[in-house]
Amino acid sequence: MLKKTGLILTSFMLSTSLLASSLTVAAAAPAAPTITPTVAYQASAAAASSITLADMPANLKSSIEWVWTNRMVTEGSTTRKNLIFDQIFAGKGTINYVVRWQSNKNLTLQQRKDLAAMLQRQMNNWTKHLKDYDGWPYGDIQVKIVGWAVANSAQILDKQADEIIYTDYITDQLSTSNPAIPSKLPVAPSALSRFDHFTNPNYVYPGGLDKRFDMYLWATSGFGGGAGGDWGQRMSDDYILSTVNSNEIQITEHEIGHGFGLTDFYEANERPPGGFPVPTIMWAGNSPTITSWDIWMLRYTWSQIKQDASRFPATTDNGNTNLSNIALNASVTSSYVSPWESINALNDGFDPIHSNDRNHAVYGNWPETGTQWVQYTFDKSYTVTQSDVYWFKDNGGIDVPSSYKIKYWNGSAWVDVQNAVGLGTTIDKYNTTTFTPVTTTSLRIEMVSKNPASTGILEWKVKASS
Ligand SMILES: [Zn+2]
Repeated sequence: MLKKTGLILTSFMLSTSLLASSLTVAAAAPAAPTITPTVAYQASAAAASSITLADMPANLKSSIEWVWTNRMVTEGSTTRKNLIFDQIFAGKGTINYVVRWQSNKNLTLQQRKDLAAMLQRQMNNWTKHLKDYDGWPYGDIQVKIVGWAVANSAQILDKQADEIIYTDYITDQLSTSNPAIPSKLPVAPSALSRFDHFTNPNYVYPGGLDKRFDMYLWATSGFGGGAGGDWGQRMSDDYILSTVNSNEIQITEHEIGHGFGLTDFYEANERPPGGFPVPTIMWAGNSPTITSWDIWMLRYTWSQIKQDASRFPATTDNGNTNLSNIALNASVTSSYVSPWESINALNDGFDPIHSNDRNHAVYGNWPETGTQWVQYTFDKSYTVTQSDVYWFKDNGGIDVPSSYKIKYWNGSAWVDVQNAVGLGTTIDKYNTTTFTPVTTTSLRIEMVSKNPASTGILEWKVKASS
């Protein structure tokens, strides 16, 4: 069925029933399994410096290669160019969700915020292991909820002005065989669905790329276990709400795993002949968390599918294609610059080799401390979406800041950019921050010093749509 429909649709629990749309759903368990708080195996993020497939632990190799060859290639689980890998490339490092709320429960504003944070966390629990791995060009993935599909708009309590609600629905055929399932199945507009349009590279989403949604987080009351694919993840409303603040969420992460093309291991003949050297979250019930096996299966998958350069073109600028550095022509100002340093260091176009690189001019504000700012003023309005800052640290009076904000001029005031992801203070590299695009003539970094040190910057790039 997988190959015939082309859909990656698998379930968490042993499943037997079918939807009319050939969606395999879980039906064996009336409720989600209890998540044990004991972490049997602690996955760890790899150190951030150019990991390659050669770094795969030897004990994982044979099982991962077996699963790739005998399961994923055979079943075609990575052939649809709508895997989460593809979605992230198309979204330039972002994933957009619509929450499909097939439930009569209300959603408070706090619950909606928690759901957004949960999706951000769960997605990055996978993708953080691709950072600095074998050409993967993205850092943190920015996950947004861009719509709420509900049967009744009154279920969205304290609706905010920027929240979008859809109230169209279809009939869920599953409800005809299972009366516990609500018959009303809310839907978001097909015109905004990447799932419905990914085969057309020239498709333009109404309102722009930001308005599209890649996947559903699909909550269905009375639904047992979970289902997942490149269309999203489906669990019960109770499961989603009761786990929303957990760090690792077993079924949700498992179902997201299917979005990367990873497979289930229900039957003995679906598993490597020698078994698994460590547990895996993709074998339902085998591990409550993402393990080293899962991390390397994900990485191995990326190393295989990236070989199709037409599918994953080489990217620059941290994966954001079609972005150019507009800082080079900006005029620069600052709250303070040490008389012997230069504010123009920020956009002199030299990429530093390390954070104490004095081969070219540097910006520093010693002996000032507290909140200081640097500012670019552009020659016209740009739609700005990314900041890359290379901090100056001289092991003397200049250190990275304790924190900083990116602000833009909205015509009358300085306001924080929204949904900033990044804001790092790591030395010896560019610290990339992405945010909701803003159209502006001026951008600021407002930094708070690590007292008693002052702050400094070697280079600051600002990326705008070209
Ligand atoms: Zn599954």
